[in-house]
Amino acid sequence: MQVPLLDLKAQLAPLREEILREVTEVIDSTTYIMGPKVAELEQNIATYCRVPYALGVSSGTDALLVALMAMGVGPGDLVLTTSYTFFATVGSILRLGARPLFVDIDPVTYNIDPDKMAAALAEDPARTARIKVILPVHLYGQCADMGRILPLAERYGIPVLEDAAQAIGADYPMVENGKTVWRKAGAMGAAGCFSFFPSKNLGGIGDGGMIVSREEALCEKMRIIRVHGDAGRYEHHVIGGNFRLDPLQATVLNVKLPHLPAWHQGRRANAAVYQRLFGEAGLLASGKVRLPEAVYREAAAETSGNPEYHIYNQFVIRVDDRDGVIRFLQQEGVGAAIYYPVPLHRQQCMAGLGYEDVCLPETEKAAAETLALPIYPELTEEMLARVVDRIAAYFG
Ligand SMILES: *Cc1c(COP(=O)(O)O)cnc(C)c1O
Repeated sequence: MQVPLLDLKAQLAPLREEILREVTEVIDSTTYIMGPKVAELEQNIATYCRVPYALGVSSGTDALLVALMAMGVGPGDLVLTTSYTFFATVGSILRLGARPLFVDIDPVTYNIDPDKMAAALAEDPARTARIKVILPVHLYGQCADMGRILPLAERYGIPVLEDAAQAIGADYPMVENGKTVWRKAGAMGAAGCFSFFPSKNLGGIGDGGMIVSREEALCEKMRIIRVHGDAGRYEHHVIGGNFRLDPLQATVLNVKLPHLPAWHQGRRANAAVYQRLFGEAGLLASGKVRLPEAVYREAAAETSGNPEYHIYNQFVIRVDDRDGVIRFLQQEGVGAAIYYPVPLHRQQCMAGLGYEDVCLPETEKAAAETLALPIYPELTEEMLARVVDRIAAYFG
């Protein structure tokens, strides 16, 4: 039995006819740039995230780039972020001539460690004065600890931009006036960025992205940057670019969005099956396999409304002898992948930028020990059992 890491055909099949009908309508309409489908998706995502503003853009990468541009990031600036993320997080900082200031991750969530962030902010006031934006990533579908990150950022007067590319719909239990209020990923900082790359929980049939925000003035800047800085009638107030979302992508995403909660639910159910099967196989007690922890699950159990405490864009485990395990799984027809094998501060393109002596032990450890298993909602219990059985066979 083959178990792929992701099977988009299984997701497409029940929606195919509706998508084809809607896409045909757009083609026949000849409205190929922006238009009602993009506006509809923006409204739908804003409603879903409970924010007033949403801006469709060309990709998750461009969402980050546009937001950082609007926040005034440029040469000489620092952006505090993580080295354990997809390249786009850091690439967008570097493209603007700014530099990332890396903070190590929490080994359980793989997200920025707020204690280490506090230490980094306190360490060197002259350096902290150069930090223009704090850019946490909600990796694998679970929010960074925003209840600690936001007050710290506020104390230093630095705005927060959320890279929520892997976490659309994920909820965070914010404690406000002694009460837990669930907030959507992307809706907590000054702005949040989503990606509709096909392998994300909400994926298009190509590239696409979205920025959400509660700040009107910031959104106005981003709206203009999206179209070459054109404030209307070819009056270019700032230098922007072509960062528009394709209406064909918006059309497909409008069809898919209503299914997103059920897909999130399916991924969480699969995570629970893995928990049971790995336990039964004795691999958790032996410590050979360590499963991801949903750190906000307890808070979710104590509140009503069934919050999305984790959306499992990836199901990332730690194993002994990671490279041996992944080679074996690939031989056995089980899709597994490493996100991410080389931390960004160790990438070739960062050479010569002064990151040689950066020390991020938890980041390095995660890069060496983790692998992602299939978690997409259409997996059957048989397929999940096959994955666990093959890992058990390896450690046999
Ligand atoms: C996917 C992703 C992006 C970039 O999104 P694209 O749509 O592929 O440009 C940025 N950050 C993270 C963490 C991602 O996973």
